[in-house]
Amino acid sequence: MNFTGDYRMLIGGQLEPGSRSYEVRNPANEQVIANAPAATPEDLNRAVAAARAAFPSWAATPIAERKAALIAMGQAILAKVEELKRLLTAEQGKPYVEAETEVMGAGYWLMGAASLDLPLTINEDSAERYSETRRVPLGVVGAIAPWNFPLVLAMFKVGPALLAGNTLVLKPSPFTPLATLKFGELVKDILPPGVLNVVSGDNALGPLMTGHTGFDKISFTGSTATGKLVMESAASTLKRVTLELGGNDAAIVMPDVDVEAVAEQLFWAAFRNNGQICVATKRMYVHNDIYEPLRDALVAYAKGVVVGDGSEQGTQIGPINNGPQYHRVLELIQDAKDKGYTFLLGGEKTETPGYFVPVTIIDNPPEDSRIVQEEQFGPVLPLIRFNNFDEVIARANATDYGLGGSVWGNNVDKALEVAQRIASGTVWINETQHLSPTAAFGGMKQSGVGVEGGVEGLLEYTAAQTIVRRKQQA
Ligand code: NAD
Repeated sequence: MNFTGDYRMLIGGQLEPGSRSYEVRNPANEQVIANAPAATPEDLNRAVAAARAAFPSWAATPIAERKAALIAMGQAILAKVEELKRLLTAEQGKPYVEAETEVMGAGYWLMGAASLDLPLTINEDSAERYSETRRVPLGVVGAIAPWNFPLVLAMFKVGPALLAGNTLVLKPSPFTPLATLKFGELVKDILPPGVLNVVSGDNALGPLMTGHTGFDKISFTGSTATGKLVMESAASTLKRVTLELGGNDAAIVMPDVDVEAVAEQLFWAAFRNNGQICVATKRMYVHNDIYEPLRDALVAYAKGVVVGDGSEQGTQIGPINNGPQYHRVLELIQDAKDKGYTFLLGGEKTETPGYFVPVTIIDNPPEDSRIVQEEQFGPVLPLIRFNNFDEVIARANATDYGLGGSVWGNNVDKALEVAQRIASGTVWINETQHLSPTAAFGGMKQSGVGVEGGVEGLLEYTAAQTIVRRKQQA
């Protein structure tokens, strides 16, 4: 499939090819699929100026109209699922079926965000005074997205930021700009010029945004290492930040699970989107009593899973999205080999073009191994034995990350007790990765600052303004 069509940035309501471009590659074959605009510093300045100019009237637009705009944007995405899904698979690598889920999720996310409301708090209504706290938008938001779920994670920001009355400059990852640029084109006429701007570019563009004096807030999703740079750079003008960062989620599998029934779900908890999910299960702790049968059921299921080009029928797992991440995953595999850990499945290097890594499961590596301690963000899962709950909870929490986690078991009270002791922003019981535009999602510890989703996430795009009125006339 040919994707060499025009990809243009959206700046001040105009679609612009940009004066420079760079190549975007398909991770399944490393071939160039399109050229994307590489925004210059001047392009960024114009996008910020357009967003600033659009801010006063967008902030003054009744919230009902802003909600209607979000719904229309969601519908515009849903009307182009087929086109966006193909583009997403070509640039990201994920199978069509997953790309379709992401595109639809992006549309529904905007529509779901439209159901939220900004609270008004009455602090005092006495004979002397009336005091209320309302929520006002911050101004211009810079939204920086990663490559694992380019479209839906961008909508996590676009929906609430616009709903709260801010204007926005959105930057996709250099590896996955195409579906996001197409989204800008699709919604161009739904919003007043400058309310939403989309700029693409290479790695220099992110730091230009975080250091830019024209932004009031940066909403960032990406790695913990980059998140620290974002926070540091944003400090120069005390920009507000929301940081959605990495994780090393533990799944804790209790001894009372139905092994056969749960094996498939556990597999996908770790390997969906090729393990490239911030809340993928990255360490799986299995109780000693069921370790062998669960291990065997997981490996048996994994052997039947089809890894390949996401655009081919039947593919269940695609390639890693990009070269740097591919080499990082291979390095972790090599480390596990060098240390002599047992590979239950996978581990071998594929010689075909494309960033393919076979599904790899490692048998009970030591707790201090790199594959247990680091975020692999790829299809390599350490399966680890545990004996008792205090011990496994301590091990699950012995990390600087605190994004997600899951507990699997039939005794729901016990599972709940374990879940409540996990130090992370979300813990799922008997499922994983279910997120909602109306529920707060974020990381504890070094997995993030702030949350997205829910009223809590919406409030992060606002400032509290308290108006106090003395009732006696002046
Ligand atoms: P990354 O940090 O390399 O890049 C993320 C974005 O930041 C990209 O758009 C990139 O161009 C930009 N960027 C790079 N350097 C920058 C800088 N110095 N200043 C500002 N922006 C900069 O992350 P990635 O590799 O794209 O994504 C993978 C990581 O993201 C994983 O660690 C994953 O766990 C995390 N992630 C977190 C969530 C979450 O919600 N918590 C969701 C998805 C991914």
